[in-house]
This record gives sequence, C-alpha cells and structure tokens, in this order.
Amino acid sequence: MATRKIVGIETEYGIVVRGADDSNPIAASSTLINAYIAATTPPRAGRTAPVGWDFEDESPGNDARGDASSLGSLAPEVETHLVNTVLTNGARYYVDHAHPELSTPECGDALDVVRYDRAAELILRRSMAAASSSLPPGQEIVVYKNNSDGKGNSYGCHENYLMDRLVPFGRVVTHITPHFVTRQIFGGAGKVGSEVPGIGRDEVPFQITQRADFFEEEVGLETTLKRPIVNTRDEPHADAQKYRRLHVIVGDANMAQLATFLKVGTTSIVLAMIEDDWLEREIRFAAPVQALRHVSYDLGLRRPLPLADGTTTTALEVQWHLLERARAYAAARGLDVVGEEVGKQVLVRWEEVLTDLEADPMRLADRLDWPAKLSLIERYRERDGLDWDHPRLAALDLQYHDLRVERSLASRLGLEQLVDDASATAAIEEPPEDTRAYFRGTCLRRWRDSVVAANWDSMVFDVGQDPLRRIPMMEPSRGTRAHVGRLLERCETPAELVEQLGSSDR
Ligand code: ATP
Ligand code: MG
Ligand code: MG
Repeated sequence: MATRKIVGIETEYGIVVRGADDSNPIAASSTLINAYIAATTPPRAGRTAPVGWDFEDESPGNDARGDASSLGSLAPEVETHLVNTVLTNGARYYVDHAHPELSTPECGDALDVVRYDRAAELILRRSMAAASSSLPPGQEIVVYKNNSDGKGNSYGCHENYLMDRLVPFGRVVTHITPHFVTRQIFGGAGKVGSEVPGIGRDEVPFQITQRADFFEEEVGLETTLKRPIVNTRDEPHADAQKYRRLHVIVGDANMAQLATFLKVGTTSIVLAMIEDDWLEREIRFAAPVQALRHVSYDLGLRRPLPLADGTTTTALEVQWHLLERARAYAAARGLDVVGEEVGKQVLVRWEEVLTDLEADPMRLADRLDWPAKLSLIERYRERDGLDWDHPRLAALDLQYHDLRVERSLASRLGLEQLVDDASATAAIEEPPEDTRAYFRGTCLRRWRDSVVAANWDSMVFDVGQDPLRRIPMMEPSRGTRAHVGRLLERCETPAELVEQLGSSDR
C-alpha cells in the first residue's frame, strides 16, 4: 500500500537591496529574517537567540551550511548571520546559499501546501516591511519568488514527498521522469528567453519554465551544479527503515495557486501509483534532459519528443495518459493516500487544465503562471512595439514575481485563488493539524522558552533539570491534533509533557 503523502515545499527567494551601491546577499537575507523574528517574537526569558534549528541529525555530505552542529553555537550563529529558526506554524526559516529560504511545515494534502506556500509569501512580505526600519534611509530589501537572477544563477523551489522506503528506487526513477519532464506544461512559471549559452531570443523568445535551462543530468545527488531531473538526496527526516523523502528539485516556484496545487497534487498521485505498481507502461525518453528543455521551449505544446523505442510522444499525451491511469487508480483504490476530497479535486482540475492547454494555453491566463505572464508580456510588446530582447520585457518578467504588494504583477492580474487570504494569514502562525507539524508548532506556541531547538524529526526541551530532553518525532503522520491534541491540552508545563511522552537524554 502506498504511503500517505505528506508534503512540504522549500522556496529560496531572490533578494536585492535597492538603493545600496553594493550589497551582500547573505547579510541582506539575515537582516530580513532577523527583522521578522524581532518583530513577531517576544524575547525569550533567559535566552538570547530565537528557537534555533538543530542540525545534529542532518547527515554529512548534504551540503552542511555553515558549521552549526551543536546547540551551543545557536546564539553566535545568529549573530554571525547564519539565521536558522523555526516558526510556530512548524516551518523553518533560514539563510541558504545566500538566499532567504522558507520550508513549509509538513502538510497533509496539496491544498494545505497551497495554504502554507501562500503563508510563506505573507511571511516574506512582513519580513520586508520589518527590515525596512533597520536599513539606512533610501534602502529597501526586495524579495522575488522566482528561480533565476537573470545573470545565469538559479535558485530552487523543492518539493518533498513522503514515500515507502521499500519501493525500488529504479522504479521511481523510471515512472516519475516522464511526469517531471511533462508536468511543466501546467507547473511552469514562464520566462523571457533562455539562459543556456548560445540560445538567443530568436530561437527561444519565451519559455514555459524558469528552471529547465539549468538541468543537465537524469539522476543524481547534486542540487546546485549539474542538476538532475531526479534527485537522489536521501535524508528522510523520519524513520529511515520505513520511509524515503523524495526531494524534488525540478519545479518552478509558482505565484499561481492552481499551479502549486496541480504540481503537488498530480505528483502525489503519480508517486502513490508508483508505490502501488499501478503504472505498467514505461515511457522512456530517448534524451530526458533534452526533452525537458524542448517541452519548456514549445509554447504550442505539439512538439514530438523522441522515445527510446523509436516512436514519439508529446507532453500533453503523457499527461493525458497519467490522468487516465490516475482515474482508474482512484476508482479501484480510492484516493485516501492523498486525502480523498482533495485528491478528487486534483483529478477534476487536472482534466480541466489539460483540456484548456490542448485547445489554447492562453485560456489559462487567469489560472496558471506561464500563460498569465506570456499574455501580459504580449500586451506590452504589442502596445509599445518591443522586440523580444528589449530590457523592459525582462524587467516585467522579474516584476511578475515581486512580493511587494504595490509592485507584484502576479497579484495585480487577479489569478484564481484556491485559499483565501484569511486562511493563509492564520497559517502564518498556526501549524497544519494533520501532521507532526502540529506537535512542533503547538509546543512552540505554548512553551517557547523551554524549547531549546527543533528539527523535522525531534524537539529538544529544557525543563529546568539537566539534562536536556529530546522528544523524537520519527513518524510524520503522528503528532497530529487527533493524536496529541488532548495530551497537549492536559499538560500545563513542558516538564509534564516530557514526563508523559517519555524522552531520551540529549
Ligand atoms: P536543502 O535546503 O539543502 O534542500 P532539505 O531538503 O533537507 O535541505 P529543508 O529546507 O530542511 O530541507 O526542508 C525540508 C522540507 O521537507 C520541509 O518543507 C518539510 O516540511 C518537508 N519534510 C520534512 N520531512 C519530511 C518527510 N519525511 N516527508 C516529506 N516531507 C518532509
Ligand atoms: Mg531547504
Ligand atoms: Mg531541499
């Protein structure tokens, strides 16, 4: 049986300091996050630092950022700018590779991912406002939710899916690759031009994704160089005997909520089908990396993609095939594994989007990013008679992703919203109720002063007596409201909680 899909999204945001001659993005990212922490969190009794992220369990080789390895380093770490903190909604907010990054809490379905992804945008927006007072007059920190700095550097938006450890990884690679190569037709955030050296605007004036230019391998461990379509990072943040966390680096950061919903919703269902060995037909591209780019460059969605068996297919055909299999899967097995109701919505919206893409992608300008951005840019181009390499078009592209309310073109376009702002605003502080993020977030809200550090799979409490107590959380689908809500209500102090749960010395 497929594993219940628990999903989180990490977004690295683009950052610039306007009005400064020269700025250090690491320092700017730290200023941004520290300003948010200072504005939203009261100082902790007896401690100098906000609740820090505990690196101890992160395995070596997975690009250890900084050298933070022990609790003792948390306070100095903050002071030396490597901010890394945990929020009451269960998210992690930190500086990664010179970008501010927000990793959502673990969510129980695709709609909650949309909600927490939107909450993350609001957190970044509040951070910008908070940071403005700590900067010299005339300077402003600006954050973009995109994936390219326009100078050949890309930063990521990673999805993470809980999977069954026993499923052979080769099977995952075989069947998820065709989905990753083709799901861009609804998940792409759109981009003016190509960043592959030698490809000019005459060849690629506009493409479907931000990221396809930066992928060079089919399978691999890298995330910042020679990026692979399927990433093999194996760090489950959970019971490693039972689970794998599939770390997906091949998506764009989306402004359009429907794009996030479908990207996560369809991928969750395809992964469940892979776990249940439901996909018999193997769709092997002759050259997957080339196919990824060709799909991104083909705005008409008709380009034949060579398969290893000598035939061809198109991105739309692959997506129709996966949808048809998903419908049969839902009829036979149900969709409880991705949340029954949300799963049904995913199937409905998936069909609607493929139908519209097939008829005319521009029909989706009110729902998906790349058609929205393309139609906006086409309007300017026609009105002002601009060539594709006119700098104003690249500037419009960037402004689409600007998170400042008054500047953001995406929010001005009135794209369909799946979660309203009241619900997203509540998610800035409240954790999801149906994953272990509930336990993490609730403990932080109630007993911040006693939480020394947190990680995805454990929390460390200081309950007044030595030693510190660690509570492991190796099951992502436990620690929910249904599971621990009553217990948390019953306990008046963290000492009681630790006593009730049992814990290990740290
Ligand atoms: P990097 O920034 O180097 O990519 P990373 O991939 O380890 O690091 P984090 O930034 O710590 O990631 O974010 C992890 C994300 O994975 C979060 O969004 C979290 O909600 C989610 N997550 C954590 N554990 C699991 C799990 N077992 N299954 C699925 N998602 C998980
Ligand atoms: Mg991360
Ligand atoms: Mg990651």
